[in-house]
Amino acid sequence: MAKVKGDILVDIEKCKGCELCRAACPQKSLELSRKINSKGYHYIVRIEDNCTGCTNCALVCPEGIIKVYRMTLNKKEPVATITNVTNDITVTVKS
Ligand code: SF4
Ligand code: SF4
Repeated sequence: MAKVKGDILVDIEKCKGCELCRAACPQKSLELSRKINSKGYHYIVRIEDNCTGCTNCALVCPEGIIKVYRMTLNKKEPVATITNVTNDITVTVKS
């Protein structure tokens, strides 16, 4: 069982199914869906409840569409947010 409990939120309509996040996940939490989004891509889904909130997936996603959360006590707070994807990518990772 992971020591830190994490979670991710993926904007599945913007996912291109490149699987970079899946390859970068040390917990093997991610897989491609069987379904496709409105653009015809299989999108990424979390298949295991063992995410640690390490932020690897968000950092490698070329679309910048993964938001990572870590749970502390009863609070769930975002730790990685990627913005300005169409211009210069801005990555904010909370330590
Ligand atoms: S935050 Fe880390 S453990 Fe969680 S899904 Fe992303 S790469 Fe995997
Ligand atoms: S890295 Fe981003 S675009 Fe690629 S499969 Fe993962 S969420 Fe989708």
